[in-house]
Amino acid sequence: MAMLILIDLDGTLVNTVHPSWKEYKDGHTKITYDKIPVFYGAKEFVLQRKEKGDCIVIISDSHPDYVNEAAKIFDVDAVSLTDKPNDSKVRDFIQGYDLYQDLFTSGKCIVIGDTKLDIELGRKLGVMTMGMIQYQTTNEIKDDRDGIGDRMTIIKYGPTFFVKDFAEADRVIDAPQDYLYTLESVFAETQSTRAIKYNTVIDSHDRNSYYAIRCLARQQSGICDSYARADMYYQLSNQERTDDYLQNMALAVTRYISQASVKNEKWDVCTYIPDKATTIPTDKLKAVFMRIDAEIPKQELFCWDETISGSLRNQPIYAERKKYLEKYLRLSSDVDVYNKSIIVIDDQLTTGATAYYICHLLMNSGAQKVLFITLFQMTFDVLDNKVCPVCGKKMRIKINRQKGNRFYSCVSPEYGGDGCGYIENINDSI
Ligand SMILES: [Zn+2]
Repeated sequence: MAMLILIDLDGTLVNTVHPSWKEYKDGHTKITYDKIPVFYGAKEFVLQRKEKGDCIVIISDSHPDYVNEAAKIFDVDAVSLTDKPNDSKVRDFIQGYDLYQDLFTSGKCIVIGDTKLDIELGRKLGVMTMGMIQYQTTNEIKDDRDGIGDRMTIIKYGPTFFVKDFAEADRVIDAPQDYLYTLESVFAETQSTRAIKYNTVIDSHDRNSYYAIRCLARQQSGICDSYARADMYYQLSNQERTDDYLQNMALAVTRYISQASVKNEKWDVCTYIPDKATTIPTDKLKAVFMRIDAEIPKQELFCWDETISGSLRNQPIYAERKKYLEKYLRLSSDVDVYNKSIIVIDDQLTTGATAYYICHLLMNSGAQKVLFITLFQMTFDVLDNKVCPVCGKKMRIKINRQKGNRFYSCVSPEYGGDGCGYIENINDSI
């Protein structure tokens, strides 16, 4: 099955993330292709994919002089000045070639890159996306809220896949459906047992003591590839949800925790974040929990305070959610978690406040290991193309270079567009 592979250049195929490369990328200084440093495995990857019948196109925001020179290394087509995450230039390019257009419209297309802009572009195109960071990055983030690098931002944009190197990328592209996240895989009727590796924190004094946060499906906001399952997340709160549906939710958890690499960690208890008395349906998550079929004793460990008022859902900010949880959610008084290895199931990860709160609560109470699994991870929103409310022309997403905030711009002739100059701020958060 041939695939159209749209691949980013800088930081993905070539090691040019250092600021010293800017003058070349901007086209101010000329460079020949043999002077550009290529990542390990990149040439082989491109060659292998071409031999397998795929079409490879470099998509880069850099200057054409530089991009076309770099494309010689790989002997592939290239689109420069793509203006990610805006998708119009890439769409126009694809439409210029029947073969590319055929692959694109039949869903045989993937965007690969090292930044959120690549993932956002892919989602705007409605195709599969793959995050891959080849330069220095930390997989184990020591601090909860600080030091979260590029990897975390990519994860929050919800790529279809996140791979560690070109060898893994090659395997995934051979059979994408076999590498979906576990719950997405259940609905695609395949057998994958992958999870979104949100975070892993290992105790610096005891390598066998850690907590890990994993998610089994993406709950997209805005446009995405067809494997993301926000539709299934909303079913969870539907009072008419079917037994089939609940079985599928539970099947995903069962499959994930039954695979050897998870099972071999020897878990003592499987629990879940209980539904509050006011939750509708009344056994919202419990109904899934009860259907999980694993050889781990199930036990309820947590309870909500009787004085509880308000809802977690109404606390949009991480700090407010954390405060709310500290006030109302606790370990039941008759529970001892000392030295225990515990799996906790929850329905949804948004800011991560519940996951971090529970992991810390259990670790501070003496637990040995915690595996916090959510059915869904809410992704950042990917915005649809927007039309200017003043003049009706297509607006573009721009980034304020000083403040870093993003806004829609009906680009005026002064900045190379044909619009009226109207701007509208974008509120990028969950
Ligand atoms: Zn306008």
